[in-house]
Amino acid sequence: MKTKSKNKTGFVYLIGAGPGDPGLLTVKGCECIAKADVILYDYLAHPGLLGYASRDAELIYAGKVGGAHNREQWQINEMLVGKALAGNVVVRLKGGDPFVFGRGGEECEALVAAGIPFEIVPGVTAGIGAPAYAGIPLTHRDYTTSVAFVTGHESYGKEASGIDWERLSLGDGTLVFYMGIRNLPQITANLLAHGRAPETPVALIRWGTRPEQEVLTGTLADIADKARKAAFKPPAITIIGEVVNLREKLRWFDNRPLFGKGVLVTRATDQAGEFSRLLSGSGARVFECPTISITSPESHEDLDRAMGSLERFDWLIFTSYNAVKYFFRRLHSLELDSRALAPCRVCAVGPKTAAALSVFGIRADLIPADYKAEGVVAAFSALDVAGKRALFPRADRARDVITAGLGALGMDVEAPVAYRNSLPDGLPHDIIEALEGGRIHCAAFTSSSTVENLAAMVGENRLIHLLEGVAIAAIGPVTSRSCRELGLRVDVEPAEHTIEALTTEIIRHFSGGLPG
Ligand code: SAH
Repeated sequence: MKTKSKNKTGFVYLIGAGPGDPGLLTVKGCECIAKADVILYDYLAHPGLLGYASRDAELIYAGKVGGAHNREQWQINEMLVGKALAGNVVVRLKGGDPFVFGRGGEECEALVAAGIPFEIVPGVTAGIGAPAYAGIPLTHRDYTTSVAFVTGHESYGKEASGIDWERLSLGDGTLVFYMGIRNLPQITANLLAHGRAPETPVALIRWGTRPEQEVLTGTLADIADKARKAAFKPPAITIIGEVVNLREKLRWFDNRPLFGKGVLVTRATDQAGEFSRLLSGSGARVFECPTISITSPESHEDLDRAMGSLERFDWLIFTSYNAVKYFFRRLHSLELDSRALAPCRVCAVGPKTAAALSVFGIRADLIPADYKAEGVVAAFSALDVAGKRALFPRADRARDVITAGLGALGMDVEAPVAYRNSLPDGLPHDIIEALEGGRIHCAAFTSSSTVENLAAMVGENRLIHLLEGVAIAAIGPVTSRSCRELGLRVDVEPAEHTIEALTTEIIRHFSGGLPG
C-alpha cells in the first residue's frame, strides 16, 4: 500500500467507466484509477479498466455478494465512507455515467453527510454509447429535435406510474429506455395507448459498444414479441423513434469483418497488445492467452563476456524484439550503452526487431527480406562473410538454423542466451470455457513456441479436442509445421510473416475467401 498520512481524510472519485468498450473511459478517469488505493467496481464496468490500477490497489467487486444477491446500496455507501475515512484515495467505478440511473447521486449524498471530499468524473452513458455503436444518431434534423432518457425499471403494478406517458408518446422525440427489457410489453403498450404510431421503429441494443453487441430491430407494434421469441436478455437499451431507421445506412461497428468472431491470441504477455488491437480493430473479440513467459537467463556469463569486447565481432544479429530488449537491458546494467555497438554491423530480422533497435538509436545494416531463420542465412550468403565473427544473442530454446547455417558459410558465431522462454502455469479458466462454449472461432499462432507451449500447457490430445472446429492461423511455414506436427490442421497462413498480414489473412478466411 502507498503510505497514507494518519488522521488525513481520504478522497473519493466517482467515475463513469463508459458503456463497455474500455477505450471509452475518459483520460481523467484513467488517471484517477491509476492513483487509487481502493477501487470499488460494478458489474457493468469493463474489467479491463482495472488494468490501469496500481499493483497494490485493493480491488472490491461491489456488484454481487456471494454471487447471488445485489450488495445493498447502503452497504456500498458505508464501504465508500469507511475506506475514505481510513485515509484512502477511493475510486468508485460505475458503468456508463455515475449520474445517469447509476445511484451515483445517493452515493454522493452519503459522502457529503460524512464530510468526505469527492469529485465526479462523467462517463459515456449507455444511452449515448450503445446507439452510437449501433449506427443510430439520437437526434437528426430531419426526424427529431429531442431525446428523453427514461427508466424502464418502474414497477408496472396498480400504483400510478411516475412516467408521463402522454408527453413521451406525443410528438417525434427519440426515447431511450434503460433497464427496460423485462418491461418491454408494458412500455410499448403504454406508448401505443397514448398515441405513438405502431410503425415507429425500435432498436434493442444489448451489451452495446462491446464485441458481443447484439441489436434487434422492429416496430412499436412487434418489438416486444420479437424480443420474447429471440429470448433477448438484459443489459440492453431500447431506442424508440424514426432515427432507428438510419442504422441501415450508418451501421459501422457490428458489420466489421471479424465482428462476432472470437480469436485466441497466443503471445508473450508484453507483445500481445499490438496484435490484439489489430484484431479488435476489425471487430474481433480477442481472448489473450499468454503461452510464453519471457524472463532473464539463469546466467549472464556468456553474454557479459561478449558485451565486454564487442569489437571482436563483425556482426550482431537480432532475430526478435525480445532479443533486442534483453540485450540492451543487460548492456545498460553493465553501464554500457549503444556506443558499445559501434564496431559491429547489425542485422535485424523483421521490421519489429528493426523498430526495437531504432529506439536505441541503432539503424540495422541488414534486414533480410525473409523473416525466418533461413532468411538470415540466405541474406548472409549473398555477402562475403567467410572468417567473419558474429554475435547472436538468442532465446534459450532457439532453433539451431542460424548458428549452423552461418557456420557453414565460414562464419564464427557466438550465441549466448539473452532471455528465456518458459511456460506459464496452465491456461486461464475463462479461455477453456470460451473454447468449450464455442465462443472462440480462430486460434492465431505467431511462433512455433506459442503452439508448442500451448500443447505442453493443456496436453496434446486435449488441445486437438479443444481446437476442433476452430480455424487455426499460423504466422508462417515454420509455425505451421509445428502445428501439423502436433496434429493440428492449419487454415490460414499469410505470405508475409507479420501480424498485419496474419490479420488480413484471418479476415479473408472469415469473409469466405474474398479479399479483406
Ligand atoms: N449508469 C449507467 C446505467 C446503469 S442502469 C449508464 O450511464 O449507462 C443499467 C442499465 O444501463 C442496463 O439495464 C441497461 O439498460 C443499460 N446499459 C448499461 N450498459 C449497457 C450496454 N453496454 N449496452 C446496453 N445497455 C446498457
